[in-house]
Amino acid sequence: MELTDIFIIVSAMAIGIVFLWAIRSYDFYEKEPFIKLLLMMFLGGILSVLLSTAAYYFVPVKYNIFDAIFKIGLIEEISKLLALMILYLIIKKNFNEIVDGIVYISAISLGFAVIENIFYCFQSDEPFLLLLHRSVFSVMGHISFSGYMGLAFYIHKKVHRNYTGLLLSIGLAALAHGFYDGFLFHYEVSDFFQFVFLALVILQLFLLRTVLGFSERRAFLNESLFQIRTNTLFGHCCHCKNDVKAKELSFGKIHCMQCPQCGYYIFDEENLARLLVYYCPANNYKRLLKNLPRYHNILLLDEAQKIRFNLNDKCLNAPIDELAQLLQACNRADRQRILEIPLIGPLFAFLGLRFMQDANKV
Ligand SMILES: [Zn+2]
Repeated sequence: MELTDIFIIVSAMAIGIVFLWAIRSYDFYEKEPFIKLLLMMFLGGILSVLLSTAAYYFVPVKYNIFDAIFKIGLIEEISKLLALMILYLIIKKNFNEIVDGIVYISAISLGFAVIENIFYCFQSDEPFLLLLHRSVFSVMGHISFSGYMGLAFYIHKKVHRNYTGLLLSIGLAALAHGFYDGFLFHYEVSDFFQFVFLALVILQLFLLRTVLGFSERRAFLNESLFQIRTNTLFGHCCHCKNDVKAKELSFGKIHCMQCPQCGYYIFDEENLARLLVYYCPANNYKRLLKNLPRYHNILLLDEAQKIRFNLNDKCLNAPIDELAQLLQACNRADRQRILEIPLIGPLFAFLGLRFMQDANKV
């Protein structure tokens, strides 16, 4: 083995590990152990590549859209799902949150893409340029095909028998994979490849955010969640109409302060955004502040007019229990809204989210 080959292997793996961190950063309610993700990436990658290679031995493939969907797509995606089913023993104890299905199958897909990249780069005259290119398109592509199966598998294992969801998810994954490859195979349409790629990635991110909205591991918002920090913050309480100072409070990356006079919590715009990402992951933050009744410079977020957003200071002011209820209602509404989107809603529902409606009250 030459030095270049070793460089290729090390770089491909290093890029894989960076992507693994990125995947893990989306798993923010209960992060999976990094070592388990690494194991799934390596073992899952090797296993799914071996299974696919074995299948290709029996199935000759032509480079056209039909074979891309019904041969390449089906073979490689089923291999990833089988790898997840076989390696399930390793992650059995950790497999306890609806996003875990997507997280672990993404790790397997990542492993698959890394191994594939290494082999393609071995054969290339410009291995590092190719690696750079494939690390964006191929790696993110592979991850974007397979999340559907991870979700369906989690529901099947943990929530409700879900053979329909599993079949549908394999179909969707093969279709996504086939479209991606197909647009590359047919040079007449290859100009549109970027759009297909982008659409697949966006759809997968949307699925992930939707599924986060259904998570069972989200902490309930209340006073005991926050830790008192050492530094003192200065802010404005629009309930007391006073400038106030108080000790900084934090819950993970979310920082805020509590008005010492009325006890209302005060979040600046940045931390309000973080709070909303946590409690309404499927929402976009601006949506909550749109079309609200306003009183001078203050947006009123609830009927009792206790939760207020001050447009001058760009800060939110609210009693914590009322805020918790508002965020919960907001998340429930998001889930409902997404399941009612034409085409995408029923697809997500039949992948398995229809079984989560009652299972998840928080
Ligand atoms: Zn106050």
